[in-house]
Amino acid sequence: MKRKRASIRLEEDNGRHERSCGMIEYIAPFLCLMSVAQCYKYCVIGAGPGGVQIGYYLQKLGRDYIIFERSNQAGSFFEKYPRHRKLISINKRHTGSTNKEFNLRHDWNSLLGDDDQMLFKEFSKEMFPPADSYISYINTYASYYKLNIRYNTEIKHIRKIKSMWFVLEDQHNNITHCNIVIVGTGLSLPFIPNVTGIELTDGYEDISTFGPDYEGKSVLILGRGNSAFETAQAIYDRTNYVHMIGRHRIRLAWETHYVGDIRIGNNIDSQKDCII
Ligand SMILES: Cc1cc2nc3c(=O)[nH]c(=O)nc-3n(C[C@H](O)[C@H](O)[C@H](O)COP(=O)(O)OP(=O)(O)OC[C@H]3O[C@@H](n4cnc5c(N)ncnc54)[C@H](O)[C@@H]3O)c2cc1C
Repeated sequence: MKRKRASIRLEEDNGRHERSCGMIEYIAPFLCLMSVAQCYKYCVIGAGPGGVQIGYYLQKLGRDYIIFERSNQAGSFFEKYPRHRKLISINKRHTGSTNKEFNLRHDWNSLLGDDDQMLFKEFSKEMFPPADSYISYINTYASYYKLNIRYNTEIKHIRKIKSMWFVLEDQHNNITHCNIVIVGTGLSLPFIPNVTGIELTDGYEDISTFGPDYEGKSVLILGRGNSAFETAQAIYDRTNYVHMIGRHRIRLAWETHYVGDIRIGNNIDSQKDCII
C-alpha cells in the first residue's frame, strides 16, 4: 500500500477567483456572528483513529469543532482491512506493571483518554484482536466522549478565502465555514507495480477471503510485507503451497522496531510452512 492524497478538490482564492466564489463567502464572518451560516473554528475531515483522537482533545479543551465522516460510522477503514480480519496491533492486557505509561506501550490500539473504561482491553481479550472489535471500540469511544461527528458527509471541495476562512462543501453542496481544517482522511492506497501481466493478478485489496477458493492451489504472493504474510497465514492450510517473493530480506518489527516491518502476529505460523 502506498500513500494517497485525499480526493478532495482544493482551491486557494488569492483574489483572482473572487468573483466566482460569490459574495456570500466574503460576508461569511458576519453570517457566522449572526449564526446564519454554519461555522466552526476547527473542521476535521475523517473519523478514523486520527480524526477521532483529535476530536477528543478539541472536545476536552472546549473548542468549537466538527468532524466530517463520509461513512455511517467511525473507523470505516477497519470494515475492510485487514482483509483477513485480524489486527496486527497487540492488545497486551497484562504487563506486570501498574505504570500507565508503560502499559500503554504494550497497548497498540487504545486511543488516549481520561477514562480507563475506554481502553481497548475492555473490548477484546485477544492479543491479536478481530478487526470488528476495533470498529466497535472506536464508535463506543466516540459516543462515550460525545464527539461531534457528522456521518454520511463526504467533503468534496475545499476553498480558502482571504487566508482567513476555509469553505468546505460536501456531496450535497452543503457549505461549512472553518478557520482551521485538519485533514485526517488516511494514507494508504494499493501500490500496483509496473510488471507485465500485473492485470492478471489479484491485489490484496480485492482478493477473495473465502478459504475454499484456495483449496489445493499453488499460490504466488508478490511481496513479503504484513499484508503478504497475513494472506499467507490465512490460506496456507488450504493450499498446495504458498510461494512468496520480495525485493529485500524480511525485516522483523521486533528486530528493527519499525511498525511497518513484519509483526509477530503475521509470522508465528506462516514462515514455517511457506517457501520464502
Ligand atoms: C492493510 C493494512 C492493515 C492494517 N492493519 C492495522 C492493524 O491491524 N492495527 C493497526 O493499529 N493499524 C493497522 N493499519 C494501520 C491503520 O489502518 C492506520 O494507521 C489508521 O487507519 C490511520 O488512521 P487515520 O485516522 O489516519 O486514517 P483512516 O483510518 O484511513 O481514516 C480516514 C477516515 O477518513 C474518511 N474520509 C476519507 N475521505 C473523506 C472525505 N473526503 N470526507 C469525509 N470523510 C473522509 C474515511 O471514511 C475514514 O473513515 C493497517 C493499515 C493497512 C494499510
